[in-house]
Amino acid sequence: MSSRLRNSCFVCALSFASSVPLCVAQNTTSTLPPVLDVHVHAVDQSIPGMDVPMCPNTPKFLASDPATKEAPFGWVQDECTPKLYPAAKGEYIKDVVAEMNRLNVTAVVFGDPASVQKWKDAAPGRVIPGTSFNEGMNPGARVPLDELRKDFTTGGFKVMGEIGLQYEGLSPSDPSVDQYFALAEELDIPIAIHMGTGGSGRANVGMTKFRGSMGNPLLLEDLLARHPKLRVQVMHAGYPMIDNMLTLLQANSHVYVDVAGLIWSYPLSEVNRYIQRLVDAGFEDRVMFGTDQVEWPKLMAYSISIIQNADYLTSEQKRDILYNNAARFLRLDTAKK
Ligand SMILES: [Zn+2]
Repeated sequence: MSSRLRNSCFVCALSFASSVPLCVAQNTTSTLPPVLDVHVHAVDQSIPGMDVPMCPNTPKFLASDPATKEAPFGWVQDECTPKLYPAAKGEYIKDVVAEMNRLNVTAVVFGDPASVQKWKDAAPGRVIPGTSFNEGMNPGARVPLDELRKDFTTGGFKVMGEIGLQYEGLSPSDPSVDQYFALAEELDIPIAIHMGTGGSGRANVGMTKFRGSMGNPLLLEDLLARHPKLRVQVMHAGYPMIDNMLTLLQANSHVYVDVAGLIWSYPLSEVNRYIQRLVDAGFEDRVMFGTDQVEWPKLMAYSISIIQNADYLTSEQKRDILYNNAARFLRLDTAKK
């Protein structure tokens, strides 16, 4: 079982193109204020098809013609500055951990237990472990419930995620997965579920089971009604369904969002408009920073800069998004920073 994957992420779309109180690290020489990245994947090497330089915040998703050989993603191939480069072979974890130390980042790292352990070993005190019930990328393949229970009761895992039902065309309220959410509620483990983003402009080409409609944040309502104590991280903030996302945040105060993936993979003005809408609607204490970190080690610094450069956020709001909101959601044993 050690080789099983439990990743299901926004960037999986790109991969198809070519997948007790906690403590935050205190022993650091960094002078930067701490950052919590609530959405990192425990990969240790390049994903086939993604090991290329990448221009973040693509300005366009291009049309394609089914009569031609279509690439499974639609990003415009413009040049950019800064371009983000993949790590050299075998260097990915080391490079990302160096960035985590430099930027004073603690991260929720999602994956199968063996993969997450590699990250814990590489970045002591900076990894909050997460794992899910998706067994690989095969739709419907599940980790046995008893095994998952052990992961959370004796294995040290703190978050159930990334849950990628949207890639299977399934609603989070589907009865077939309810036992896993019941377990999370019973054990008081927060869940992190992919909602919204995906497809990189061409889900119809690369991901035939993916359904945009299954990313509708309001599909969580029945699940939340069945499990009223469940704490939920809506990954990718349900982008682009802002009205439904706000409706859910209004209706359920146990729901937070992360801006991972979204923050570097859509046009920048759109990203800022979306985050501003969440904040302007009154939910500044429920927006959490995340990257969906894979492949490009400088992605973390780049993504942090989007928040730091947001002229519509106050200094306090930036700190809340970069750290305090996630610390509250994860119940970290740490003071506000
Ligand atoms: Zn995702």
